[in-house]
Amino acid sequence: MNLNDYSNIQNFIGGEFHQPLSGNYMDNIDPATGGVIGSIPASNEKDIAKAVKAAEKAFPAWSLTPPAKRFAILNKFADLIDENLEELALAETTDNGKPLWLTQTVDIPRASANFRFFASAAMHFASESHTIDGKAINYTVRQPLGIVGCISPWNLPLYLFTWKIAPALAAGNCVIAKPSEVTPVTAYLLAQISIIAGLPDGVLNIVHGTGPITGEAIVKHPAIKAISFTGSTKAGERIASLAAPMFKKLSLELGGKNPTIIFEDCNWEKMMQTTIQSSFSNQGQICLCGSRILVQESIYEKFKTEFVEKVAALTVGDPLKENFKQGAIVSKTHFDKIMRGIDTAKQEGGKILVGGNSVMGKRRCEGGYFIQPTVIEGLGPDCETNKTEIFGPVVTLQIFSTEDEALKLANACDYGLAATIWTQNISTANNLSLKVQAGIVWINTWMLRDLRTPFGGMKNSGLGREGGWEAMRFFTEAKNICIEL
Ligand code: NAD
Repeated sequence: MNLNDYSNIQNFIGGEFHQPLSGNYMDNIDPATGGVIGSIPASNEKDIAKAVKAAEKAFPAWSLTPPAKRFAILNKFADLIDENLEELALAETTDNGKPLWLTQTVDIPRASANFRFFASAAMHFASESHTIDGKAINYTVRQPLGIVGCISPWNLPLYLFTWKIAPALAAGNCVIAKPSEVTPVTAYLLAQISIIAGLPDGVLNIVHGTGPITGEAIVKHPAIKAISFTGSTKAGERIASLAAPMFKKLSLELGGKNPTIIFEDCNWEKMMQTTIQSSFSNQGQICLCGSRILVQESIYEKFKTEFVEKVAALTVGDPLKENFKQGAIVSKTHFDKIMRGIDTAKQEGGKILVGGNSVMGKRRCEGGYFIQPTVIEGLGPDCETNKTEIFGPVVTLQIFSTEDEALKLANACDYGLAATIWTQNISTANNLSLKVQAGIVWINTWMLRDLRTPFGGMKNSGLGREGGWEAMRFFTEAKNICIEL
């Protein structure tokens, strides 16, 4: 296993590394420097067909592999990720531009936790039985679907890739997986880990390429029974339009424009510290980041002054250096999109309280893509800036006075992924939690995750839930068998 060389990424099909059948490759860019670090296969439907053949061959044996054996293999993945944390973290940072301290403490440990959690789920997944007045018994079996497609985004590359693959494998499926073409490295390295972990050939196939070509080939292939997708709402809409007429099972984890609702009675210190994180962690490129901060009128000026001061102190620069809180934006395309979002905010009359500009990296990072953490005020709920996902280090401030007004502002958006509420009043917290349109609500905390809980959004933030038994149910077909006694 060599986790330090990812200059020539290959597809992983049937337990072996393969060039794309077209022979075409794309450049892989380090966003902190703007330099090319390697090549990525530009795979097409022929590579997907080849991967499906390998998966079809592997499925009968894998679907019948006892849970204890599946547990052992998936747990070994977790051990190997832990053992190679430093190499994987460095690779993730180089590929994505996020700070090394973040990949070391969050991204890679969570990838390992995903495997360990679902390894255990394979052992504990059970199904129900119902008797009818002693006259009959129903028992429900949950069988693996067969071959499933897992498509993941660039913001938490290995973290989200494994969040899909691990339950799919634990439930006994064979997988065709595609990481984002923007951050393919750790998925490529995972293929090497898969060999050492002892996963049989063809059970996990990792094919690289773009969304419209490679991704759509996965979605369209008739032998692939389900699609688990995390990414933009636009791509989710396209995938749904392709998959729905084929009656494929679909799990769609899409965009967000999450409200952070701050009441005057909050625990100030904790709220302030956490709101900095919930706004700007990973350069604001987490679907759960709170990009619309709603603040109660009585504390608005105090909040604004302190928040802006703290945001101005966030350091932006080389993700390999520990002293920088913020790393690079993932790509030039995404950098341009964020800068356009800031321009739109200005055109709409927003006032930039801090940030608003790109940052010139120093030394090896001169060609990198960096943006100042940005805070904007003066825009209402109907403007483009508060309705569209920017997915970068940009937040807006809005004012409310009553609980009803806070709720109205929070729900004035087509997304519904997550919401964070800061108050010491349990009734306010409970009341708002029940009424806010979001699949995930945090009260007096943010991004505190328990892998057993349902994860996903409502409205344009997606369809279905991941996590815990939800994921195991998604990746299985329930069949009820009724016996008259
Ligand atoms: P994206 O939609 O551009 O790409 C995501 C993945 O889908 C990539 O692998 C891409 O190649 C593939 N893809 C794109 N178009 C496709 C198509 N037509 N058919 C099949 N596959 C296709 O998203 P992104 O820019 O990589 O990620 C950022 C987005 O992901 C943001 O909107 C963010 O909110 C969202 N996201 C959501 C969650 C969540 O859990 N809800 C988590 C992380 C990121």
